[in-house]
Amino acid sequence: MNIHEYQGKEILALNGVAVPKGSVAFTVEEALFAAEHLNSDAWVVKAQIHAGGRGKAGGVKVAKSLEEVKQYAEQILGSTLVTHQTGPEGKVVKRLLIEEGCRIKKEYYIGFVVDRSTSRIVLMASEEGGTEIEEIAETQPEKIIKEVIDPLTGLTPFQARRVAFAINIPGPQVNKAVSFMTGLYRVFCEKDCSIAEINPLVLTEEGDVMALDAKLNFDSNALYRHKDILAYRDLDEEDEKELEASKFDLSYIALNGNIGCMVNGAGLAMATMDIVKHYGGEPANFLDVGGGATAEKVTEAFKIILSDEKVKGIFVNIFGGIMKCDIIAEGIVEAAKQVSLQVPLVVRLEGTNVELGQKILSESGINIISASSMADGAEKIVSYVQKGGEINEHIHQ
Ligand code: ADP
Ligand code: MG
Repeated sequence: MNIHEYQGKEILALNGVAVPKGSVAFTVEEALFAAEHLNSDAWVVKAQIHAGGRGKAGGVKVAKSLEEVKQYAEQILGSTLVTHQTGPEGKVVKRLLIEEGCRIKKEYYIGFVVDRSTSRIVLMASEEGGTEIEEIAETQPEKIIKEVIDPLTGLTPFQARRVAFAINIPGPQVNKAVSFMTGLYRVFCEKDCSIAEINPLVLTEEGDVMALDAKLNFDSNALYRHKDILAYRDLDEEDEKELEASKFDLSYIALNGNIGCMVNGAGLAMATMDIVKHYGGEPANFLDVGGGATAEKVTEAFKIILSDEKVKGIFVNIFGGIMKCDIIAEGIVEAAKQVSLQVPLVVRLEGTNVELGQKILSESGINIISASSMADGAEKIVSYVQKGGEINEHIHQ
């Protein structure tokens, strides 16, 4: 789960990790109120969306007067911010962080991630802060320092010190940087983070070391033991279709392609996406209806796929084991009744009760293109989608 920058900073501040003073604002009035109560002569007005790259997109502005705070708040609140992480549709800004302006001497990068190859938490750091870490990794990989953390000892002070020296934190500030890193590591472990990225971590003209940005992600499987974190969830920032799917306990991930996929089992779902791609198509989603799906669940899954305007064709690929083919068939028929089906539908059924499933589908009167194998189904849906408008004349039972 992802949270906003201001929420991440709240968690950091509560745990003794240095951040600038600031507060959230939902309206221009609240933004002004927040600015007036910060003892500062410069303020930063920051768009709060679940995406980075806001600075470059005009979502972070430094105001030199309260008049400017008002002007920027008016400008940013309600606007749609398009950054390299939002996708072309962008995100509407509904919250601002009003923060004290900081006199930056140097920007660094600090991040903790779970590294699958070492099965350890890894501390990554760079003296090239402010830029995206992916860009540094590509152009100057030697500028990224990595420190693998042993879970038994945790991040030791000598490791943090080694990192501080490696990224050229000036001598007098090394201790501050060390306590920053150890504090952030503590938060990472205690709160079950999957990512804690501070970009930039800054050294100020006054000699302080603090987080100017905070990106904290949490392991969803651990949220049951962090009610405080769960309270930070902002449903506005989540994909509507994914939210709807989670209500029905469906594993659904929205993607950018135009072929909707409905599959049972995560492995088969992955394989289906692969084979769709193999035949030159692009999946619109990952969707695993699970082993014990009911007809109702299948209906909801189908409706979610169809609510995606990008979807130009649907490929249902079911291997009935625990999941019976007739249940799937009933779900498809029910969904097709509820939502008018305007796109080609290719169905490949195999396994338990397959004959019954096929009978339900063929007697339903819905235009269904049946496939004899997974490859046949993928090839068919890709070719129908590529043909576009000619679909209706080509559909057969
Ligand atoms: P994003 O990563 O989404 O672009 P950041 O929070 O990293 O957003 O802000 C972008 C840049 O704006 C920072 O690299 C920093 O230079 C500047 N900035 C952000 N917050 C402050 C602040 N409180 N004071 C001064 N400058 C800031
Ligand atoms: Mg940043």
